[in-house]
Amino acid sequence: MKAPLLALLLTTAATAADPGKPPLTAQTSASGGPLDPAQKKLRLDLADLQLAVDPEREVVNGTATLTLALLDRTDRIVLDLDRNYTVTMVSVDGVDLTAAWSNPEGRATIKLPKKTAKDATQTVVKITYGGRPHVAVRAPWDGGFVWSRTDDGRPWMATAFQMEGCDLLWPCIDYPTYEPKSVALHITVPKGMKAPSNGVLKGVDQLDDGRTTWNWEVRDPNLYGIALNVGPYEEVSGPYRSRFGNTIPMHYWYLPGEKAKAEGLFAEFAPVLDFYEGLIGPYPWGDQKVGVVETPHKGMEHQTINAYGNAYAKTADGFDELFQHEFGHEWFANQLTASNWDDFWLHEGFTAYMQPLYGRWREGEGRYLSMMLASRIGIQNKSPLVAGKPQSAEDVYEKAPGRGGDIYSKGAWILHTLRNQIGDRAFFDATRLLVYDRTDPAPGNFKPQFRTTPDFIRFVNQVTGNDWRWFFDVYLYQAALPKLVQTRAGDRLTFTWQVPGNKPFPLPVEVQVGDRIERLPMTGGTGTVTVAEGEHVTVDPMSRILKQDDAVDALQAYRAARPRPSPAVAPPPSLAPSPRT
Ligand SMILES: [Zn+2]
Repeated sequence: MKAPLLALLLTTAATAADPGKPPLTAQTSASGGPLDPAQKKLRLDLADLQLAVDPEREVVNGTATLTLALLDRTDRIVLDLDRNYTVTMVSVDGVDLTAAWSNPEGRATIKLPKKTAKDATQTVVKITYGGRPHVAVRAPWDGGFVWSRTDDGRPWMATAFQMEGCDLLWPCIDYPTYEPKSVALHITVPKGMKAPSNGVLKGVDQLDDGRTTWNWEVRDPNLYGIALNVGPYEEVSGPYRSRFGNTIPMHYWYLPGEKAKAEGLFAEFAPVLDFYEGLIGPYPWGDQKVGVVETPHKGMEHQTINAYGNAYAKTADGFDELFQHEFGHEWFANQLTASNWDDFWLHEGFTAYMQPLYGRWREGEGRYLSMMLASRIGIQNKSPLVAGKPQSAEDVYEKAPGRGGDIYSKGAWILHTLRNQIGDRAFFDATRLLVYDRTDPAPGNFKPQFRTTPDFIRFVNQVTGNDWRWFFDVYLYQAALPKLVQTRAGDRLTFTWQVPGNKPFPLPVEVQVGDRIERLPMTGGTGTVTVAEGEHVTVDPMSRILKQDDAVDALQAYRAARPRPSPAVAPPPSLAPSPRT
């Protein structure tokens, strides 16, 4: 999702558990928390979800048919599902086991009549459930259903639950690596409503009572990327002819009365696709679609149906940054998915970095650097970006001070620093290995990847032929930034890196002396230039390196001491979190 910019500019407030109603258990509120031992014996292969949405009553009723592989002997099947749903029927391979269902804390357990045989191949679990689902207060920063109305009073709803996970909508295993191969969605909506969703539209069924059922199928969906959207949408669509030879259908569903604005946003789809395909590689879901839908919440990277709620806001950077950000997650979140939320920065750091890179692609180095410097102000450095141990989404985004914002801006600045050191070719080859597991991706020759931070470090070492662990040890695994200290003796000006724990940090630095630029190798963490009397010195004149900065520290301290940001530095309302909190 997009960073709450207000939080980035001030401090990332640690919020308590999800405030929406009805309340969630701690188990359901956390996404990607520890697996139940019985879940480790399961693989979720396929899901078929029939979901009937009643926006007037704010109710959803569903039947989930899950095809599970049982990998080891087990006497129970454990899934995750919000206990706020009432479950009315459960069967396993056609046998009614409703009485064997229990779900006190959101960890839904079906006790099997007898222990399964080892490696029992496939089991079909069918669960009928429904009720008033959890409603978000401040989506997408807290998750759930968002029931809204269009200006003319018609129903308009969406879902978003990155922090809380798929168990707010359907019985799943709420852990990043438990993506099914395929999910079929059959979404029934009232007369006059449309239900754009994930993947490919297989058809729309007309029911006798005037309702319609929208049948979708999505392959390899990111678990929090499965979403419902219901509204009286209009649609603009068209083909994109890719540099890779394939043609990709593009769709945007928007609210009535916004045709000109919607067509303006849609006109950004092709150049943004061109940028990502040219810089990174093929759009991962070209066999499905590019899909965007207007939502009552800000945005979310729902796979092939990105949520867009940015009200067509304009910026001096010249493009819709919300659309461009969420769309980047099709590569960095949906194709590449973090194996554990401890690697959340692989989603947000890369996607945040794609924003100035898009500015550079459109307008050049000036725009790139201005966008980088704007994001530098918000970096907090209060917690390491990576903990090195399993984390839930909430642990990263909300509980560790500053980390929820730093996974964006600090992540982007680390990548900026790295690219400046190893060059574009190595940087983007390492990125392609991370995203596609190969440097020559083409449609059809890659699969989705689950990735860790050590994977990325390994790829950087592989493409450069050098060991860059010292770089990541400091930037990712320490909170404090490296500090470049200067000492002068006569005409000798010496620079020394100070890093936490006095770790090795031989990061080369450019120094401008008069009108010449010297690149100091900083072997052993130190380097010296000769400065004649009267010569002016500028350190890192192109701002290539993320490092401690007195001016930024002073600005953050100044802002922290003030009760409110001054109007001059407040973000535009379109980028601030909802004022409801
Ligand atoms: Zn994001």
